[in-house]
Amino acid sequence: LFVVFEGGEGAGKSTQLALLAERLRGQGRDVVVTREPGATRVGERIRSLVLGTDEGEAPSPRAEALLYAADRAHHVATVVRPALARGGVVVSDRYVDSSLAYQGAGRTLPVDEVSWLSSWATGGLKPDLVVLLDVDPRTGLSRAAARNQAADRLEAESVAFHERVRYAFLDLAAADPKRYLVLDAGRPAEEIARLVARRIDEMLGN
Ligand code: C5P
Repeated sequence: LFVVFEGGEGAGKSTQLALLAERLRGQGRDVVVTREPGATRVGERIRSLVLGTDEGEAPSPRAEALLYAADRAHHVATVVRPALARGGVVVSDRYVDSSLAYQGAGRTLPVDEVSWLSSWATGGLKPDLVVLLDVDPRTGLSRAAARNQAADRLEAESVAFHERVRYAFLDLAAADPKRYLVLDAGRPAEEIARLVARRIDEMLGN
């Protein structure tokens, strides 16, 4: 089973990922918690290229899209597919939809091209479920800022950028409702965790 958490800044993905992993491990399952970008050694170096603030040179939008695709190709080949092949549950913090939303809608690259690039990178691997934690960018950004997460980088993007990202995620979910669970990230964490757990239990036939 391949489960992905998506959402804007400050949506609470990490909290939910951890709660879900703990629950599944409690059921004795083989669980791999992972993320994009940066889950592998190659990915860590790519992450510092795309998200590092110390080098003073941000990659151009197309270069950025290729770097995320490279991170994803390596991640899928070395982490995700092997875990799925041995029957594990993979829970990833971000996947293809983040590229469609950030590099596509956010940076305004053609979404169909970013989609093609992503499917080339992954060999077409799709998640069984995407949990979209939907948050208003103003709320999310202030939550993220309160935790002092990469404040400079976040401030560099306008609220309009983050709104494009948000609506791109929501559009993706609306186009394929069976594969998505869209939850209001403003609800209490325990309540979100319960709804996620219920959906995963259904999928695992618990
Ligand atoms: O998931 P996390 O908050 O660590 O993501 C780090 C940042 O990477 C996000 O805030 C987002 O701005 C950026 N990102 C992106 N495109 C992706 C994945 C992440 O711009 N495909």
